[in-house]
Formats: sequence, C-alpha cells, structure tokens
Amino acid sequence: MDMFIDGQFTKGRGEARFDVRNPTDGSIVDQVPQAIEMDADDAIRSAKAAFDTWRLRSMVERVAIQKKCAQAMRDAAPEIGAVLHTELGRPLDACLGEITRSADLLDIYAEEGLRLEASFSLGAARGEKTVVTRDPVGVVIAITPFNYPVTLLLFKLGAALIAGCTVVAKPSEDTPLSTLKLAEVFFKAGLPKGCFNVLTGTGIGIGAALINHPIPRKIAFTGGTAAGKSIAAAAAGTLKRITLELGGHSAAIVCDDADLDRATSAIARHGFANTGQFCYRVNRVYVMRSVYDEFLTQLLEKVGKYTLAPAGGKGDLGPLVNEKIYQNSATQVSDAREKGARILIGGARQTGDGFENGFYFQPTLIADATPEMLIMQDETFGPVIGITPVETAQEALFLANDSRYGLAGFVFTQNLALGLSLCEGFEAGSVWLNDIQRSSHYVPFGGMKESGMGREKGRYGVEAYLEYKTMYLSYEAPL
Ligand code: NAD
Repeated sequence: MDMFIDGQFTKGRGEARFDVRNPTDGSIVDQVPQAIEMDADDAIRSAKAAFDTWRLRSMVERVAIQKKCAQAMRDAAPEIGAVLHTELGRPLDACLGEITRSADLLDIYAEEGLRLEASFSLGAARGEKTVVTRDPVGVVIAITPFNYPVTLLLFKLGAALIAGCTVVAKPSEDTPLSTLKLAEVFFKAGLPKGCFNVLTGTGIGIGAALINHPIPRKIAFTGGTAAGKSIAAAAAGTLKRITLELGGHSAAIVCDDADLDRATSAIARHGFANTGQFCYRVNRVYVMRSVYDEFLTQLLEKVGKYTLAPAGGKGDLGPLVNEKIYQNSATQVSDAREKGARILIGGARQTGDGFENGFYFQPTLIADATPEMLIMQDETFGPVIGITPVETAQEALFLANDSRYGLAGFVFTQNLALGLSLCEGFEAGSVWLNDIQRSSHYVPFGGMKESGMGREKGRYGVEAYLEYKTMYLSYEAPL
C-alpha cells in the first residue's frame, strides 16, 4: 500500500520502501514507502489546510461525519480485521473485536463533543464581560505502536477530530496497513481530505521531521518509555503539547482472603491477552504466602490450557511481532532461571510445524521471583508473568510501587476496606479490584510516573485537544 496524504494514496517523494511481514511465518505481506522529510511537510500542510475549515464546522456537523466514520468502520470490519490479522499475527476474532470496539470509541467521542462547554464569568464589572472559549489545539501528530494499531490510533484520532483538530498519523513500521486502510474507509465515509493523513516509516527515519516541524501543535504518542522520553525532549523545542502513553510493568496483589479462582482466571486472561503485548497487562504478581502454593496451582492449570496458533492455524495466542519484542521474554526468562527462580510452565521458544518462521514464545510462569530479577523490574511485553510470595499486604504494596512505571494495578481481596486501601495506595493511573475488565471508553486512561503524561478516552480525552482562550470584552452599557 502507499501513504495516504490529502485524500489520496501516494508513493511519496522518496524512493525507499520497506517490507511488512506476517509475524506467523515471516512472509512478506506488502511494502510501504519510507516517508522522507518532504512527505512529512506535504502531510502536515494538507492537515493545516484542512484544519482551517474543519475547525469552523459546527459541532453537529463534525459529530455527524464522525458517526458515519464509525459505522463505515463497522461495515468494513471484516476487511480491516483481515489486514490487521495478517500484519500483527493475532488470531482473527480478536482483530475483528479491536475494529468494532474502536468504532464504539469513535461514537463515544462524538457524543462527548456534543456535551462540551466553556464558561462565562459573572465576576466582570458593568460594561465588561469575560468569556472563556475552548479552541482546537491545531494539527496533531499521532504516533502509534504495533500492538493495538487501530484502538490506539482511535484514542487520539477520534478525540482530535471531534475537537476540531486534524491529524497526521505515523503508525508502527510493523503494522502500518490497518491504519492506511482506515484512512481510506474514513475518507470514503465523508471525512474531508487532509483531516486524517497517514505517513509510513520508522520512528528514527521520520519522527524528527514530524516533531520538529513548526506547524503541528501537539504530539500524541503511544509507545515505549524510551521513545516517549526522546519525543518529549524534541517536542520541547517548539513547546508542542504532548500526551504520552508509555510502557507499563503492572503488578497484581493477591491477599490471603482472595477468591483464588476469580483471581487466577483474571490474571491468566489479562496477563496473556495479545500474547502479553499489552501495555496494562499483569506483568508481576505478589501473593500472600499462606495462599501462595494454591494460587500457583490454580494459575498453572489455567495457563496450561492456552494453545499457540501456528501459521494458518487456530489457537489462543499468536506469535510476538518481531525478534526485538521476542528477545525481551527470552532474556527475562534466562535471567530469572540463572538467579534461581522456578519456571512452572513454558520458558522457551515454540518449535515444530507451523512455528518455525514466527517468533512464538510459550506462555510462561516464573515462580519464586525476587525483586532484582528483570521480570520483576522491567516491562516484558510478552507472555511471561513473574510471581513472588510476600508476608503482608503492606509489603506487597511497597514492592508493587517500587517501580518507575505506574500504568495499572490489580488487587484481589474479599475485604473491601483492605481492597480500597490498596487501590488508594497504588501509584497507577488505573486500578482494578477483584476482577480485570478492559479499560472503559468513558473514563480517563493513562499512566503515572514513567508510564506517561496526560489521559485519553471519554471527555478527558477530548479535552486534551482543546485549549482555553479567555476573551475580555468591553462595551458602553447604554442602560
Ligand atoms: P516503540 O516505542 O518502539 O514505537 C512506537 C511508535 O513510535 C512507532 O510508530 C515507532 O516507529 C515510533 N517511534 C519510535 N521511536 C521514535 C522517535 N524517536 N521519534 C518518533 N517516533 C518514534 O513501541 P512499540 O514496540 O511499537 O510498542 C510497545 C511499547 O508501547 C511498549 O512499551 C508498551 O507498553 C507501549 N504501549 C503503551 C500503551 C499505553 O497506553 N500506555 C499502549 C500500548 C503500548
């Protein structure tokens, strides 16, 4: 596929293209252009021209167009889902779910647009009024990762468009095709040209041209903490607004009175979703010693049922997207092994028919993990969970918070007062008690500490694309 700029597909001005591969077997699915600086400039100028009219459309008009895009997305779900399945390797059903769930978010953002208000101060003197309005921030650069390419783009795009902004998206080099497909679907559904442009390329190759360009006013980024920090530093050069959704290393605390069946079901489901390539997954677990063995037995039984889906076949978990992401799991497991942890299940690359050419890592549980092990310190982004016994809930909370990350936390106890205290004590942007649902579209989502800055989703997400403006009006009061 080609890039999508100013309402049409284009090869761009450079010569270079790169391969997009199917992670299940390494085969080449397609090629896309490596954007160059002139392409970034073209896309940004198209977005700026579109912004000058899109921002002036009434909210009702923008809402109507956004809802048409949401419906078009649902109608095209089989097509976009199939593209996503091929570039990401995740089982098809889950890919289809990502498309329809993201369409719902588009609708919710549209409804939030209808409810936006500014204010009017009553404090002014006679013959004066102070009016506060909210303006769209401007052209937005949306940079997204590979793991949920459609959802994480829609977190930004849906909020930006309804606020009156226009967008230049730069999807992950691993998974650019679903974003390109989406741009075509939205354009055909009636989104004006230039409102949503897509550039393809590596972060290193095109990131600086986007971030340093003087026109865009905001960078909305989801990805790793290291990339987020360098983007924030670069954005400071022109003081662009930033929203950063970064890495996570989320902990679960299991108390001695927890419903272990419920806790192990939730942790098994959430820890291995998308083969662990999931920012707010359960990465590490602190379990009170009196229930530690029983917890391990139940979790092992549930994780043991997961199957890996070979190339062209069916199963619960797909491969990891590329060798770099695969290597995190392999390194953390060998580190834990060397330092004396017990590998309860998995711990190795999957081999055999249908697995030879993909980066398949077996679902893995590491018991008796200690704080200095990599699994308990840094994001895995793979199908591996570390588990540590603790003596008290206080110790568990201390260990859970003893991390540079702060994206999510999970608590399991039937004592509501203890559960609430642990939730309150967690240094994390979202906390779950006694079950783990998907994050809701209606409430803020984002991280504390090095897991990010700002919030997406719901009203809070839209507000991140608006700036306050205060107007002081003076007039001769005739009466
Ligand atoms: P990544 O940081 O390698 O890349 C993310 C995107 O940023 C890609 O499009 C990449 O090309 C681009 N990029 C990288 N360096 C850049 C730079 N210097 N300038 C501009 N763009 C640059 O992340 P990934 O491997 O694609 O995704 C995995 C990471 O994303 C994990 O750390 C995960 O926790 C994080 N993530 C966070 C959330 C969240 O909501 N907090 C959600 C999903 C994923």
